[in-house]
Amino acid sequence: MKKIIVQKFGGTSVADTDKIKNVANIVIKERENGNDVVVVVSAMGHTTDHLVKMAKSLTPNPSDREMDMLLSTGEGVSIALLAMAIQAAGYDAVSFNAMQVGILTENIHTKARILDIKTDKLRKNLEAGKIIVVAGFQGVTEDGEITTLGRGGSDTSAVALAAALNAERCDIYTDVEGVYTTDPRVVPKASRLEEVSYDEMLELAHAGANVLHPRSVETAKQFAVPLRVRSSFKLDNMGTLILGVDKMEIFKPVAGVAADLQQARIVVCDVPDKPGIAASLFGKLAQENISVDMIIQSYARKVTNTNDIAFTINISDLPKTLTVLESLRAETQASDIKVDDNIAKVSIVGAGMIDRPGIASLMFETLAKLNINIKMISTSEIKISCLVDKADAQNAVKALHEVFGLECDEIADVKGDLPDV
Ligand code: ADP
Ligand code: ASP
Ligand code: MG
Repeated sequence: MKKIIVQKFGGTSVADTDKIKNVANIVIKERENGNDVVVVVSAMGHTTDHLVKMAKSLTPNPSDREMDMLLSTGEGVSIALLAMAIQAAGYDAVSFNAMQVGILTENIHTKARILDIKTDKLRKNLEAGKIIVVAGFQGVTEDGEITTLGRGGSDTSAVALAAALNAERCDIYTDVEGVYTTDPRVVPKASRLEEVSYDEMLELAHAGANVLHPRSVETAKQFAVPLRVRSSFKLDNMGTLILGVDKMEIFKPVAGVAADLQQARIVVCDVPDKPGIAASLFGKLAQENISVDMIIQSYARKVTNTNDIAFTINISDLPKTLTVLESLRAETQASDIKVDDNIAKVSIVGAGMIDRPGIASLMFETLAKLNINIKMISTSEIKISCLVDKADAQNAVKALHEVFGLECDEIADVKGDLPDV
């Protein structure tokens, strides 16, 4: 039986028809290596951003279902065009959307998780000698409702397909040459990582390194899918391999630095210091599928016997979160609900920081030297995150990248423009 390779191409890689021809050539080359190829594509260029902008111009709170109906259209265009480009080069290709394949998801709009992928149709078409092009980002519920997997979710479509098909490898083709020690748009002398472990990559992705959708890394780890990130435009190196293990001895404590600018902080003020308040607050947020990131509960004030609960969420969940908090106002007896969306989470990540004292203090000292105020701190075994003002995020990333010795001499090659939403 032939090996199956899943390839995924992001928005910049399919931004116009010339770039789609370039993608067709990469796909065909893999086919000529003797492999079966399943290709996953994103919407062209900034299509998804434009669709979001149109929706927001009509209403600040478009319904989640209609957002999925709208945003899923972007990938429908690119799959058909890529299949045509492959056919024009003399190869048999067929495009499918998520409904045609059977990419089944939960019944949650705008950030559904994949439950199952039907492989019969895919296998039948591969056996018939076709190159298959699948729409990323979309899914379908048991009831036939269209869902999407969250922004950047095509990476997760690709890895999930690779897992379902027991593919040899999943190659994520993008507009940079791999995973770098930080975003090369912010630090042009960031170093490309030859290898990075699933665990470090997962923390980096959650910390805002949007080169990979966090759930794609989770899925790759769960199903042991070998994952590669490489450039669609410069094929002279193999990019970055994301794999199971850390190197035996890790010499650098920090593997990467990331910033997440999509955060909002909420403070629920003066809630009674008694059991059950946090449970009902975060329980209700969970029911609404709102993920909470950093959480701080302050010491109770002696006189009033109340404390403050502060937490961060993704900014896209802000309207829903405020609705939930208002609905709990009587129960929590909060005196005020404060919102700050002018913030960013800056993180350092590295398996080498385990059992190595002094890493956190060096991070805090570096931020202090820049007069950057830390608003919240959270840690995991291999990550330290600080919440800072949004305006300070870039300087913080640059300084941390330097102080932990991550720079190299070369300037990274980055294609594509920054997202315009
Ligand atoms: P695609 O459209 O191909 O999915 P994305 O824009 O989602 O591409 O992801 C690629 C971008 O991720 C790069 O252009 C880069 O600016 C950004 N990025 C952020 N952090 C990193 C990092 N640590 N390594 C590489 N790229 C990063
Ligand atoms: N087109 C979607 C987005 O822009 C999905 C993706 O590109 O991965 O978020
Ligand atoms: Mg992406």
